Amino acid sequence: MQTPSNKALVPFVSVDNMMKLIHRIGIDTMLIGLADYIEQDFLRWPSFDKTPRVASHSAEGVIELMPTSDGATYGFKYVNGHPKNTRGGLQTVTAFGLLADVATGYPVLLTEMTILTALRTAAMSALAAKYLAPKNATTMAMIGNGAQSEFQCLAFRAIVGIRTVRLYDIDPAATAKVRRNLAGSGLNVIACASAQEAVTGADIITTCTADKANATILGDNMVGAGAHINAIGGDCPGKTELHADILHRATIFVEYPEQTRIEGEIQQLSPDHPVTELWQVFNGTARGRQNADQVTVFDSVGFAVEDFSALRYVRDHLGETGAFVEIDLLADPDDPRDLFGMLGRAAPAISAA
Ligand code: NAD
Repeated sequence: MQTPSNKALVPFVSVDNMMKLIHRIGIDTMLIGLADYIEQDFLRWPSFDKTPRVASHSAEGVIELMPTSDGATYGFKYVNGHPKNTRGGLQTVTAFGLLADVATGYPVLLTEMTILTALRTAAMSALAAKYLAPKNATTMAMIGNGAQSEFQCLAFRAIVGIRTVRLYDIDPAATAKVRRNLAGSGLNVIACASAQEAVTGADIITTCTADKANATILGDNMVGAGAHINAIGGDCPGKTELHADILHRATIFVEYPEQTRIEGEIQQLSPDHPVTELWQVFNGTARGRQNADQVTVFDSVGFAVEDFSALRYVRDHLGETGAFVEIDLLADPDDPRDLFGMLGRAAPAISAA
């Protein structure tokens, strides 16, 4: 198999190669591997540079940069969120990202991250649920059946042991698409006519809708004792999915409070409302689920460290999958100070008169 060469050329994973990489590794293996990488990085949380992501808002959406570093490696993701895009045949969320060597500042990987974000978001959700969901959970409601949803269902099957998914979307065509895509997955897939019907009998409720609004996808009376809510879609100021009453009676778990208070469901609460940081649950210094009746909420917004973990995972699996090309991203003059002189390499040949 091809391995990245150690020159100024940078390994690049296109969308086409990301699809090949996933098939060569296997989607379950990759979801489990990503969850493992994320958990490892959350266990060394204090070693990361952390900042709420840098967001540029517009009427229709947001464009965000998500940087972090562990002192040896730097990573960032460019990502957008434009709920109206799907009406014009475009994705709500697209992304690409980069890893770089801190010692030289040289990039070591450039990759598509639209598909990778769906995988890492699903892996993160399932990892959190491993600590927070009721024991022996088998049924999940999946509300919002767009681009992220199959990845969520498969991660919960592979990592949490979910066997049945109860689907609901305001657009029945989206639900039909998920049913088609999950046929043969081993999951028992049930299409529901309402969010209320979808949550009936569900141990875990995933909300993954896209609307730039303070929506009420789940009302307080829809959430029974003991449920775990995996709230994915509320990830921007003015964009939430849960009624505030649910938050007031739940125990709330977050990635990075400084970012979640701006973007997550908890933007509806006072700034000092108590939340638990997941890295502390993973390392045993904070408690996850404490009893069978507790309502737990993972107020997911997506944090830079998760993308860093996903980028690390891809970098570590490039060699075995061969799913990359090397691109000429960095100037490499023969004399590092003679950048101008390097232009001569591309000078048009002057034909003799
Ligand atoms: P998408 O546009 O492909 O799908 C969204 C789906 O939600 C659509 O099928 C739409 O019909 C449905 N929907 C909208 N309003 C609804 C309602 N009231 N009830 C039921 N269904 C409804 O978007 P996507 O890529 O699947 O992303 C979903 C959401 O997740 C977005 O808001 C996105 O910003 C967010 N997201 C969060 C993270 C994270 O880490 N937390 C990562 C990726 C995406």
